[in-house]
Amino acid sequence: MSGNDALREQLETKKAELMARLDRITANLRRGLEADSKERAKQMEDSEVVDALGNEAREEIAKISAALQRIESDEFGICTECGVKIHPDRLAAYPYAEECIECAEFAERRRSIP
Ligand SMILES: [Zn+2]
Repeated sequence: MSGNDALREQLETKKAELMARLDRITANLRRGLEADSKERAKQMEDSEVVDALGNEAREEIAKISAALQRIESDEFGICTECGVKIHPDRLAAYPYAEECIECAEFAERRRSIP
């Protein structure tokens, strides 16, 4: 599957970027926690924002890792819910999509129901 080689490279690059970003976020967070107690309140506020960013990066790294695994096992581009091929346009826009657009929209609707 040579078509997936470029995509794999793209995902590996993106993953490396996110790991580097996560390292910086974690370093900032640690600095914040070691700060002088006078600064503590403001620092804690900042670190909550920073932590949210860290979680976002971690989540994205997990998605990329899952996509890379699906490339390895030749399941990439197949909807994990219903097993149809995910539309190439969707994969181009969102390379680590796990679901076809129908399943993703269905899941979205389900989530929005209280
Ligand atoms: Zn589906």
